Amino acid sequence: MFESLSERLSGILDKLTGRGALSEADVNEAMREVRRALIEADVALPVVRSFTDKVRSRAVGADVVKSITPGQMVIKIVHDQLVEMLGSDADPIDINAPAPVAIMMVGLQGSGKTTTTAKIARRLTMRDKRKVLMASLDTRRPAAQEQLKVLGEQNSVDTLPIVAGQGPVEIARRAIQAARLGGYDVVMLDTAGRIHIDESLMLEMAEVKAATNPHEILLVADSLTGQDAVNLATSFDERVGITGIVLTRMDGDGRGGAALSMRAVTGKPVKLIGTGEKSDALEDFHPRRIADRILG
Ligand code: GDP
Repeated sequence: MFESLSERLSGILDKLTGRGALSEADVNEAMREVRRALIEADVALPVVRSFTDKVRSRAVGADVVKSITPGQMVIKIVHDQLVEMLGSDADPIDINAPAPVAIMMVGLQGSGKTTTTAKIARRLTMRDKRKVLMASLDTRRPAAQEQLKVLGEQNSVDTLPIVAGQGPVEIARRAIQAARLGGYDVVMLDTAGRIHIDESLMLEMAEVKAATNPHEILLVADSLTGQDAVNLATSFDERVGITGIVLTRMDGDGRGGAALSMRAVTGKPVKLIGTGEKSDALEDFHPRRIADRILG
């Protein structure tokens, strides 16, 4: 991810660093190229516009610190602006609430929701020493509940016993009740996905939310889907209200547009990234590290 963007940006910015002084026209020309590179990386258009406008105005007005060249100054401004666009600081999952804390996982089918549910549960269990219960509310796909059960067994995380014939809200209520009785710290609700967003999915999510009062509602989105992932986040946020985003398949060779636009478009933080199929392939989203990676 980010390789081609990174290459493009370093090409553009390298041209600036060799020069002694930079005119406004030089900066404008560089920003035109940056704009093109970001659009090609699939970054949302309003985000691209606001990004280059901010860099341009800061670069043109900037006092060049004695020890660095104007070109290095522009690189620093681009870096700072990238960090700001990505959300500045890491924003971890918040489980500071009375137990059992409910975390509701939402997203489309195939986005990596079930895998991510298990990854988070594993991390809360192994690293944070919390007692976690997972429950699959997916009654549409017959194998879904079984899939979560297997992941639970592999990662030593308990799953709610499967009871045939129950609907999502009923299962969610049972999960909260079981978590309360069993002294669990966290209960993770893996909701059903669909191929596309539809009204019935949104109604189901709203019902589960109303029944469980989740402390976090995390949208799982496939980073390889670029703009679609951003549109998806906007729709879920408007209809259900999300508290954060997990971007999966960050180990793939996507152009990075979703990762770069998510925060700016939705106002919601990217909290975690999935970096592989295995249950430990989960990392915090660090805006500074991503900016470093992009600018080499
Ligand atoms: P769900 O339908 O949203 O619950 O999706 P699943 O959790 O079943 O995941 C679908 C596929 O994506 C599985 O083969 C997962 O192993 C894979 N997957 C999930 N997250 C990642 C990730 O971060 N990187 C990679 N490479 N594969 C992932």
